[in-house]
Amino acid sequence: MKKRFSSLKEIQKSISESSISLPELVQYYLNQIESNKHLNAFLEVFDTEALEMASTIQNKINNGSAGKLAGMVIAIKDNIVYKDHESNASSKILKGFKSLFSATVVERLIAEDAIIIGRTNCDEFAMGASNENSAFGPVLNAFDTSRVPGGSSGGSAVAVQADMCLASLGSDTGGSIRQPAAFTGIYGIYPTYGAISRWGLIAFASSFDQIGPFTSSPDDMALLLNVITGSDEHDATMHQGPALNIELQKELKPLKIAYITDCLEHPGLEPEIKQATEQFIDVLKSKGHSVEGISFPHLDQMVPCYQVLTTAEASSNLSRFSGLAYGYRSDNAHDLESTFKKSRTEGFGPEVKRRIMLGTFVLTSDFYDAYYTKAQKVRRLIRNKTMDIFNNYDIILTPTTSTVAFKLGEKASNPIAMYLADLFTVQSNLAGIPALSIPFGTHPGNQMPIGMQIMGRPMEESLLLNLAASLQA
Ligand code: GLN
Repeated sequence: MKKRFSSLKEIQKSISESSISLPELVQYYLNQIESNKHLNAFLEVFDTEALEMASTIQNKINNGSAGKLAGMVIAIKDNIVYKDHESNASSKILKGFKSLFSATVVERLIAEDAIIIGRTNCDEFAMGASNENSAFGPVLNAFDTSRVPGGSSGGSAVAVQADMCLASLGSDTGGSIRQPAAFTGIYGIYPTYGAISRWGLIAFASSFDQIGPFTSSPDDMALLLNVITGSDEHDATMHQGPALNIELQKELKPLKIAYITDCLEHPGLEPEIKQATEQFIDVLKSKGHSVEGISFPHLDQMVPCYQVLTTAEASSNLSRFSGLAYGYRSDNAHDLESTFKKSRTEGFGPEVKRRIMLGTFVLTSDFYDAYYTKAQKVRRLIRNKTMDIFNNYDIILTPTTSTVAFKLGEKASNPIAMYLADLFTVQSNLAGIPALSIPFGTHPGNQMPIGMQIMGRPMEESLLLNLAASLQA
């Protein structure tokens, strides 16, 4: 098999015509993983198991009892737990940790006969924008291996980019799905906060974190969301109600779209991305949509607000990694206190430590009101002002990122520059609204892919995907 499959529909057709069997398909992806080992996208491949599942599901296909996702070969980010499998969140502190249960998303995928082929590399505890903060080495961008794939879900993005699986799951707290999707030329979504269960997602910042898919097509994105969304008794922060039921239509009614002028005029925006955005706007207009520029003068407040709140939540969430109950325990410890200290000192990487300390600081009684309470108010304001836009418009448009994939090492020693990689993506996490990154063209100089971000009202993923699908056609 040489040809790359771009959607599950195509795979299911080939299987039904017997031009490929499911075990052959899995073997194809395993070969792809092997020949792309240098990209470091996978931390572990579940090869034997995936092949076994393939024959079981092939039998189900033959006798007509297969689930909706039969033929879907998918990878999961290393912070999504899978029963009896190791999950490290790319941290040394979780080395050897095997979960006793599966994340709800994993259970729902398996129930519909998807095959989980392995777990993917990411920034440690999903903290980062380049995948350089992994305890297991960086992931390389398949289009140019001197460049980063973005982060934190870099391995999940590259796994799809380099055709090592059809789709993957990542997690997004401030851009960790959309930014790598843009850097690798694929689709990635931050779903509405509360649309997908966080049960079994190793927490970074609980009021921001959402799991979401990476795919090569809007079709597969819709299919996966239909399977993994929907309330779950294990996650009390969820929207109550059934799963999304996204159907991609042939015709789309004209939409009112607002692009944020402050993003297009931002000094950090690469001129080539500005041009691409203008072209994208022209395409939208040519399809009959109305597109208008609006001002949203809060860009400078968003990343600082995001950093204060997410580090605060992280400092609390990560206190459970103590060296006692599970994961790494220092051999140099000699009593309880040194077990905590040494296990954490040796187990966490520098970026995670920086965030735990920052978050602990903003929660101290002396500074709580100055930072944490203030940031909560800013968050509310940003959410309200974002929701106000939806009184007049259906969709908000920005570029996904201000630059294309940068070089490995370029920002590694400058945390502030790295945090600004999230400039355009954190708005949706602060507001809890869905945001989809659509691949749109390449940088004319270095040929790296560019992503456009469209944001919608809560639970209106369907509109985002219908717009994306209409553009693809
Ligand atoms: N790059 C952002 C950060 O470092 C986003 C991470 C994420 O979405 N998990 O916090």
